[in-house]
Amino acid sequence: MIPFNKPYLSGNETLYIEDAVRTGKISGNGKYTKLCQDFFENKYGFKKCLLTTSCTDALEMCAILADIKQGDEVIIPSYTFVSTALAFIRQGAKIVFADSEASNPNLDVTQIEKLITSKTKAIVPVHYAGVACDMDAIMTLANKYNLLVIEDAAQAIDSYYISSNGEKKPLGGIGHMAAFSFHETKNIISGEGGLLAINDSKFVQRAEVIWEKGTNRAEFFRGEVNKYGWIDIGSSFLPSEIIAAFLWAQLENLNDIQNRRKLLWKTYMDAFQKLNNSSIQLPVFPDYATNNAHMFYLVLPDLASRSDLITRLKENGFHSVFHYISLHSSDYYKDKHDGRILPNTDRFSDCLVRLPFFYELEINDINRLVKCLE
Ligand SMILES: *Cc1c(COP(=O)(O)O)cnc(C)c1O
Repeated sequence: MIPFNKPYLSGNETLYIEDAVRTGKISGNGKYTKLCQDFFENKYGFKKCLLTTSCTDALEMCAILADIKQGDEVIIPSYTFVSTALAFIRQGAKIVFADSEASNPNLDVTQIEKLITSKTKAIVPVHYAGVACDMDAIMTLANKYNLLVIEDAAQAIDSYYISSNGEKKPLGGIGHMAAFSFHETKNIISGEGGLLAINDSKFVQRAEVIWEKGTNRAEFFRGEVNKYGWIDIGSSFLPSEIIAAFLWAQLENLNDIQNRRKLLWKTYMDAFQKLNNSSIQLPVFPDYATNNAHMFYLVLPDLASRSDLITRLKENGFHSVFHYISLHSSDYYKDKHDGRILPNTDRFSDCLVRLPFFYELEINDINRLVKCLE
């Protein structure tokens, strides 16, 4: 069976873990944590980066930093992973779900303005499959209504938004803050793991405190204060050096990993374009989005044909999977949702299928899969 995902080891993961263990620094915020954080700050220009134990944690830090309180409203797409909503729910927010675009699962920016009320505090765009949301339009709305923008960049490492003036901006570097994931299903992995990227410097100091269990220990270690103590809320959001050591081995190989994934992605795309089957909708990229080859998906005409496709691929040795169940119709939220129908979200929920996609997938596997669908 060709699996849907297979975690890829680039070579030095266990070597660096051994190094961390031998040098006796295995709690958080050591050498490997700094290497990883510096990597993101230097390569993508994020103002301040903090490793976290997951993207979920990074989003929770965002919700705390945004000072989300009971009754505040947060606009997020319904077609996303539960963590995008959960982080804000835990602070007492009401989630206002936005529909997807017709052509791709990202939230439809043209529908956001009418969802904004005097209680709206933040917009949380999710760059689905690493494809950029229309960030210029989102930032314009955010400025107009004085809202925070928190990018769920879980799938968006090394992907870009191209502004109308031609400027190329890394995803995660446009909103006030952003969250990335290194879960084993993402491009760059550490098992479980995440990153908080802060672009608005007014959040930097508090982020460090929340990260270190509500203490000003980070300032203390830099010699900026002469004792440290409890000054705010927080949690243990930082990962151990063992996780960071693993992640560093992956980041050293980012280009190789991305090149391989892009080659596999293009192989799928070329094969399906050649197949030219009008009942299969291929991924669509807006002019402002680049491709980071996070996943390869198809959109089928309806639920029945998707189920059929998944079954037939399985019979032929390929594991394919559907993705999100709309959050607005989840057991937890359906009674709290305001009742609006979100037709595009529901369509992706019913019709989108993700094909096997991982570094060690063979070109030949892809050709066999497409042949089998033919
Ligand atoms: C994977 C993912 C998350 C959660 O990431 P974790 O690191 O597993 O917490 C959140 N949002 C989106 C869009 C994701 O794809």
